[in-house]
Amino acid sequence: MFKKIMAAKRLQGFTLIEIMIVIAIIGILMSSGFAYYQRAKQQALVKSCKKNMFTLDGAITQHSLNNNNENYPDAITDVFIKELVSGGYLKDEIKCPEGGKWIIETKVDNNIKERTVRCSIHGTRHEP
Ligand SMILES: [Zn+2]
Repeated sequence: MFKKIMAAKRLQGFTLIEIMIVIAIIGILMSSGFAYYQRAKQQALVKSCKKNMFTLDGAITQHSLNNNNENYPDAITDVFIKELVSGGYLKDEIKCPEGGKWIIETKVDNNIKERTVRCSIHGTRHEP
């Protein structure tokens, strides 16, 4: 008798309410997971840009030491990046992962030029 009832229940499958609850739970899990994914992706892009700016800062410093501390154009162009690569200051051509434009900020303090690369999207590598 009991086995017959259980067999009959199993044939009924899931009710609409049960299926809707499962779908709602899956939706909640997916939306929170997607938010975490988006935030992690954004943080990775910012870190990648700042790491590239750190590399570029070093390459420009080396380049300026070997070229009599010349003046640099404000905007960092693809041509300038290629020049740094061909001169051996950079291993590969680098750029902002989100397509930001880099500029060189020059500060003169006690006759010492200090150059910092600034991204139009991510700021300088020193900014949070
Ligand atoms: Zn950037």
